[in-house]
Amino acid sequence: MNAEAIRERIDSAMSRAGRKDKVYFAAVSKTRTVDEMREAENISWVDFFGENRVQEAEAKRKSYTDSRIPWRLIGHLQANKARKAVEIFDTVDSVDSPELAHRLSRIAGELGKILPVLIEVNTSGEDSKSGVSPENFPALADTVASQENLRLDGLMTVGPITDDEREIRRAFAALRGLAENARSETGLALPILSMGMSGDFEAAILEGSTLIRIGTLLFGPRDYSGRP
Ligand SMILES: *Cc1c(COP(=O)(O)O)cnc(C)c1O
Repeated sequence: MNAEAIRERIDSAMSRAGRKDKVYFAAVSKTRTVDEMREAENISWVDFFGENRVQEAEAKRKSYTDSRIPWRLIGHLQANKARKAVEIFDTVDSVDSPELAHRLSRIAGELGKILPVLIEVNTSGEDSKSGVSPENFPALADTVASQENLRLDGLMTVGPITDDEREIRRAFAALRGLAENARSETGLALPILSMGMSGDFEAAILEGSTLIRIGTLLFGPRDYSGRP
């Protein structure tokens, strides 16, 4: 694992951004074995695991019952997997419709919990990406904020697929702007801006990310063939 080099890059981006606050770190563990995940959890500054599939996370949870850090669902969630997701994950970061928000809140209530969530926004407009559009975000934020058994902690986005640094920064800045507006509209603190992956986390930190999601840089290239 390339932990030290990653930490240096994060710290350097934080100082370039003039930031003294904390950026949280999610080790994106999709396709990784439980042994690899244990190794990551041993890094003192790894705060979360990020998984994008309910089934895969469920299988790993069964043999990793002693994980001490929260697991975040960062992939698109289908309605029929919502119950399982609420059972397995500590947070759902990919809320992208009012229907899903209603369903998650109902299920969380049935399971006697308050579920922390993020709203995923499609800031790049790429069709392949999930997430609510920036236009529909404010209404969704109101809906999520009013659900009895959800706690809206912030926003998540996946940056555009491009080498154009300005375009990447624009997408991340857009997420920050939506969060700022939503804070004044709802009165919520919305502390989490989840943006930045292996290829663009420095740009994200410069635009105010408070949670980066890193897979490849930490674990190496992904191999989907043996995926649980
Ligand atoms: C896979 C994934 C990541 C991590 O991507 P890397 O490029 O491997 O760091 C981050 N966020 C989401 C939503 C992902 O699906």
